[in-house]
Amino acid sequence: MKKVVIDEAKCKGCGLCVHFCPKSALAMADRINSRGYHPAELVDEASCISCGICGRVCPDAVIEVFKP
Ligand code: SF4
Ligand code: SF4
Repeated sequence: MKKVVIDEAKCKGCGLCVHFCPKSALAMADRINSRGYHPAELVDEASCISCGICGRVCPDAVIEVFKP
């Protein structure tokens, strides 16, 4: 199970999760989702500490964080 699951289709590309991740484990993807936004993605799972900050700051609550 991934530590962070992002519902990419619902992401509006605001970048808040990327900005607030203390481990720089998230980034905006080059691809574009069905709404026309670059979605956030987990790019460094090994660095992720499952702190849950990304899930809390996402205004649309499209991120779920799981403890390993
Ligand atoms: S759970 Fe914490 S460390 Fe992991 S991606 Fe989210 S903000 Fe970053
Ligand atoms: S905070 Fe939520 S809506 Fe904003 S980029 Fe991250 S996943 Fe997408």
